[in-house]
Amino acid sequence: MEKKIVVIGAGIAGLSAGCYARMNGYEAEIYEAHSIPGGLCTSWKRGEYTIDGCLQWLTGSAPGNSFYRFWKELGAIHGRKMYNRDEFCRFSGTDGRTFIAYCNVYRLEQHMKEFSPDDAETTELFCRLVRKFTTFEAPLGKAFELYNFTDYARMMWKMLPYMKDLGFCTRTTIGDFARRFKDPFLREVFSMIIDSPDMSLFVLVSTMALLHIKAGGFPEGGSLAFARAIEQRFISLGGKVYYGKPVEKILVKDGITCGIQLENEEQISADYVISCADLHTTVYKMLDGKYIEPQYEVLFQTAKIYHSSVQVSFGVNMDLTAEPGCVADMTKLEMPILIGNEKMEWLWVHNYSFDETLAPKGKTVVLCLFPAGNFDYWEKLYTNKAAYKKEKERIANVVAGELERKYPGFISCTEVTDVLTPMTYVRYTGNYHGTYMTWIMTPDLLKRHRLVKKTLPGLRNFWLSGMWVQPPGGVPSGAKSSRDILQMICRQDNKKFRTSES
Ligand SMILES: Cc1cc2nc3c(=O)[nH]c(=O)nc-3n(C[C@H](O)[C@H](O)[C@H](O)COP(=O)(O)OP(=O)(O)OC[C@H]3O[C@@H](n4cnc5c(N)ncnc54)[C@H](O)[C@@H]3O)c2cc1C
Repeated sequence: MEKKIVVIGAGIAGLSAGCYARMNGYEAEIYEAHSIPGGLCTSWKRGEYTIDGCLQWLTGSAPGNSFYRFWKELGAIHGRKMYNRDEFCRFSGTDGRTFIAYCNVYRLEQHMKEFSPDDAETTELFCRLVRKFTTFEAPLGKAFELYNFTDYARMMWKMLPYMKDLGFCTRTTIGDFARRFKDPFLREVFSMIIDSPDMSLFVLVSTMALLHIKAGGFPEGGSLAFARAIEQRFISLGGKVYYGKPVEKILVKDGITCGIQLENEEQISADYVISCADLHTTVYKMLDGKYIEPQYEVLFQTAKIYHSSVQVSFGVNMDLTAEPGCVADMTKLEMPILIGNEKMEWLWVHNYSFDETLAPKGKTVVLCLFPAGNFDYWEKLYTNKAAYKKEKERIANVVAGELERKYPGFISCTEVTDVLTPMTYVRYTGNYHGTYMTWIMTPDLLKRHRLVKKTLPGLRNFWLSGMWVQPPGGVPSGAKSSRDILQMICRQDNKKFRTSES
């Protein structure tokens, strides 16, 4: 008889866990609180418009990146058109200068040198690093937890040509590198390309390398369509997914996990449980804080958590195909605007006109994203529903005013408006403080926490998967952590880990 794996959460990690469980002959059931799959990787309809809440770029959307193979196994990209943009982001200052982070590294280098000739040396170093990592395919096929001496030797051999640069990139933060630029504008915007100056430079370098080889595209149809494809793969493999089923407790007998209890008190038995839901909720609520992993405690106390966002989206009866369609079209504001209790100096615009499936012809979805700042502010505001609603309306008006300056006629063409706050992320996914990229791994933290534990001390047959155990997060971390966990379960059951492609 097949052993049964119960998965909590149908985000990308949960759906991936289900798929790999079925590929390896386990009975698999997923229990999801929400009514749809995807978790953070989602989109939703507002009138005729599809508003996307997640993917700006998909790591591994094409060959040349290690994640490509995973998406093929998960049936996520088969036959799906990927949009690769020429520009990753652009920054327009108040003095009329515009810096463009081109996806093509040669074009980027030329532009950076023209933009700031005094910074040629730093530009050359950065672009050389990007070029170097265009051929780097991280050895991700096997879980690091299962590595033996031969695996390590093989990995070292493969990584030998990259070691020196990799060491530099992982030791240096994006912010530290940005400070090398003499041009003050370049210095300011360079650390905004990936939006987190505390992350290691490798995150930026590897992303730019990914974009250069066109393996970081936007999947046509957006994030929910991407998640739905994995859900369908799971179902076609014989898995069962139950929506509207919030899990309340993880059941344990004599230190061994034996199932879950739903909020409606129904109990589901299992040989193994994989929680792909928020780590904080899993450890401190579903398991009542009885099994504490000291590493998590350290990380919660010492690591910064990636901020949540305020997302303001509009459906406009305007054709913006001639405007930049990059991930972040950033404009420095003449006057800062207040979002929540934070002053914003930059307006981040994402014009989705490149994907015709998201709006009717001649119409466009325009999205603005802001770092949400202090979570406590939003949590407190949310307790007063009228004040919370009023603040969302105020934000929508302020942002629309800025967009009117950028695209004259914008306000009169607006057909739908949609505002998300950190509380929206909490309400729909349960993630701690509404984050979607977990702990920020600074070079110092990376040194001490190369691997984040996927099990809890004193608890058998239980695993944690998803962005929290594979920082910095993103959809690839969901697929990778769940694939690794199935390898570990197969090892425990003396089975050879198998995969297939759809
Ligand atoms: C604005 C934005 C932009 C982003 N851009 C990108 C990008 O460009 N590229 C990229 O790779 N990533 C991006 N991400 C990040 C990415 O979406 C996440 O890191 C990733 O989707 C996390 O997947 P997960 O499965 O680990 O967690 P989640 O998506 O949080 O899934 C957890 C699931 O568990 C469910 N759940 C929670 N509690 C319970 C319970 N008690 N019972 C049952 N179910 C429960 C939730 O409803 C959810 O479905 C972005 C995210 C956002 C919000």
